[in-house]
Amino acid sequence: MPTPDRAGLPSLDRYARYVDGGVARLAGYVEASRGCLHTCRHCPVVPVYGGRFFVVPAETVLADVRQQVAAGAEHITFGDPDFLNGPGHALKIARALHAEFPRLTFDFTTKVEHIQQHRALFPELRALGASFVISAFESVSDTVLTRLGKGHTAADLDDALAVLAGAGLPVQPTWLPFTPWTTLDDYLALLAWIRRRDLMAHVPAVQLSIRLLVPPGSALLSEPDAADWLGPLDAANFTWQWRNPDPCVDELQRRVAAIAEAGGDADTAFAAIERLAYGLAGRRAPVTPPRTHAHPAPPRLTEDWFC
Ligand code: SF4
Repeated sequence: MPTPDRAGLPSLDRYARYVDGGVARLAGYVEASRGCLHTCRHCPVVPVYGGRFFVVPAETVLADVRQQVAAGAEHITFGDPDFLNGPGHALKIARALHAEFPRLTFDFTTKVEHIQQHRALFPELRALGASFVISAFESVSDTVLTRLGKGHTAADLDDALAVLAGAGLPVQPTWLPFTPWTTLDDYLALLAWIRRRDLMAHVPAVQLSIRLLVPPGSALLSEPDAADWLGPLDAANFTWQWRNPDPCVDELQRRVAAIAEAGGDADTAFAAIERLAYGLAGRRAPVTPPRTHAHPAPPRLTEDWFC
């Protein structure tokens, strides 16, 4: 795997920035691995890699970091589907990166199961410059998590939060709120889960609008109840269409997507989504208590990540 040739690409200031404490910095992007060891049933990586992953040699990754730091990057986002598929490789790269660029920060994506399995690594990754972690929490419904074959339960999410908090690492949880198995009650439970943990600022509205993608080759096509929800192939968008048995849930998704597209800060959008969802369910949305202390926005990239 040669070092990526970035000579023909736009300069880093044309891409998403890294923002922390209100200061925006140029961000670079590298991959320390390709593919994924796991086979979550909804994941578009799986039809391509089939549970295999390949490491990018450390010297190649570092050479790519070096050329982006030379171009002004002060933060690196690791784009690996899961940075901790090869924990030894990830740690080796993080140590080398910190030794050469001690002020450089980075973020990475890893699954809940890996946060739990490799909990001992997180304090060191933090000390080496990790500033936030993206993790596919997906759902607070064990029924949906089982369908997706995620390898974690709703109870595991709190354990993952505790591991990250213990290391001082903010999380950007990603969600898959709309699936053929999602009920309106599931959606309200998700909103309540986020609110109880005060994670509203960590969840951009687009994350609350994501609809399951069923690409050609998806393992979900063989679900025993697929005939109940699967529609025709939408070849132009590389996905099979589907609908929720409850039309109200599909209506909610369309309206949450409109809120996400309208933009605005995460707290305000969250409150609007709550009013909408509770309204559709014929219930009163929780009253948002005024904040009694300044709540610093978590570090993030200026372009919200979603899949
Ligand atoms: S969802 Fe994440 S952990 Fe699961 S197969 Fe895809 S990349 Fe791997």
